[in-house]
Amino acid sequence: MFRFDNSYTRLPEHFYASVYPEPVEGPTLLKFNTALADELGIEADESDPVRLAAILAGNVVPAGASPIAMAYAGHQFGNFVPQLGDGRAILLGEVVDKAGRRRDIQLKGAGPTPFSRRGDGRAALGPVLREYIVSEAMHALGVPATRALAAVATGEQVYRENVEQGAVFVRVAASHVRVGTFQFFAARGDTDGVRTLADYVIERHYPELKDSDDRYLALLRAVAFAQADLIAKWMGIGFIHGVMNTDNMTVSGETIDFGPCAFLDEYDAMKVFSSIDQMGRYAYRNQPGIGQWNIARLAECLLPLLDENEEKAVEGANAVLKAFSERFQAAWLAVFRRKIGLGREAEGDGELVQALLGAMHEGEADFTLAFRRLADAAEGKDEVFVSTFKDPAKATDWLGRWRERLGAEDLGDAARAAAMRSVNPAIIPRNHRIQEAIAAANYGDLSFFERLLQALEKPFEERPEFADYMLPPKAEERVTQTFCGT
Ligand code: AMP
Ligand code: MG
Ligand code: MG
Repeated sequence: MFRFDNSYTRLPEHFYASVYPEPVEGPTLLKFNTALADELGIEADESDPVRLAAILAGNVVPAGASPIAMAYAGHQFGNFVPQLGDGRAILLGEVVDKAGRRRDIQLKGAGPTPFSRRGDGRAALGPVLREYIVSEAMHALGVPATRALAAVATGEQVYRENVEQGAVFVRVAASHVRVGTFQFFAARGDTDGVRTLADYVIERHYPELKDSDDRYLALLRAVAFAQADLIAKWMGIGFIHGVMNTDNMTVSGETIDFGPCAFLDEYDAMKVFSSIDQMGRYAYRNQPGIGQWNIARLAECLLPLLDENEEKAVEGANAVLKAFSERFQAAWLAVFRRKIGLGREAEGDGELVQALLGAMHEGEADFTLAFRRLADAAEGKDEVFVSTFKDPAKATDWLGRWRERLGAEDLGDAARAAAMRSVNPAIIPRNHRIQEAIAAANYGDLSFFERLLQALEKPFEERPEFADYMLPPKAEERVTQTFCGT
């Protein structure tokens, strides 16, 4: 079914543990991503869902697989844990997709591994569906993210705060190498391991750096820039990752691990949803700063490779950290300029955007809807935009400033509105809609999950049949807290 070509198992033995998935009682296919399977060159026989489910749940290990659990460490909420690793995820192998890109095929929730510690190696249905929905939505929104190939029910129960139905999530990633993977070797003083991993990552993700004189510094910069660009995109869609530990940050620049993630409804820069983030470390506004903090941890791992002279190594690393901020600022401004319909760059654009965000905060405007409706204002229908604010005065004041700035632009109104609608989504995976889909699925009804996925396929279109997915939650639908579903 898969044409595997496994490069990670060609790395030294201490990079991973070989482990087979633990078969489950009653695998049932919940969802299979046919389009993604095509892209990956996977030959899946959907006319035999029983066999397909058995493979995707890990009961049948397909030919060519070399199942492993990857070793990694990580800073969790700022505290270093020298050994984490795949405790409930098993990398089946890698395939090279039709575009020539190497992709990991991983089974999440496929049973215990040597890294499970006290965990059961399993995943619950709710978090599996959440990851399916959000990773596919991110992709449709143009945000780099790991992808969802399938969700399979296991027919077993898992014990969390409540008894839940078990499921396996089949994840596709550019790779599963994390900042924490580097930390695993660095924490053991294993500089050879760090170098081997760095060479592997360069070869796989940044081959253009191979012949660079200072390839490891170039690698650090490339990872830093990929993350700066990624986080700017998150900010642009109101995404809060929720658990930006170093083990949840890829070196490829893909968003990974959608545990307690959430999307802003009304704009609030300090917004936190995650029940386990009591200090607000991973609040919406803190994400770029945390991204930079995580890159600093990666820099520490790479220091011994940067220069024999420690001072010079530190100097190089510090320059990258500084460049991260500049890169993020520029990427953020580029994202938000487009969101407010500016095609040129002018002094003061950053303040103009901040003034809008300030008005949205004070006016309790829904982040997604307000930006979407700004395109209507671009066509002269100010009231459509203003009505997304509880306090309209805030919105009208800002529109005056914006109109003045638009004088320096050259697009016509209709073209501007169209450009704005192509970057400001109408539909995002709103927290209450995800919750609704999960609640129904727990009672065996997948129709809400299916319909939400359909709505999210074309997030920049306002299709009448999905109009209800544009709406912010009613008071009684509001999600105030998300849980680190495991
Ligand atoms: P996360 O916060 O979900 O990214 O996971 C942090 C660490 O906990 C990783 O090493 C996971 O593999 C591990 N882990 C999470 N849930 C489980 C589980 N149910 N069984 C075993 N390990 C787990
Ligand atoms: Mg090993
Ligand atoms: Mg994780």
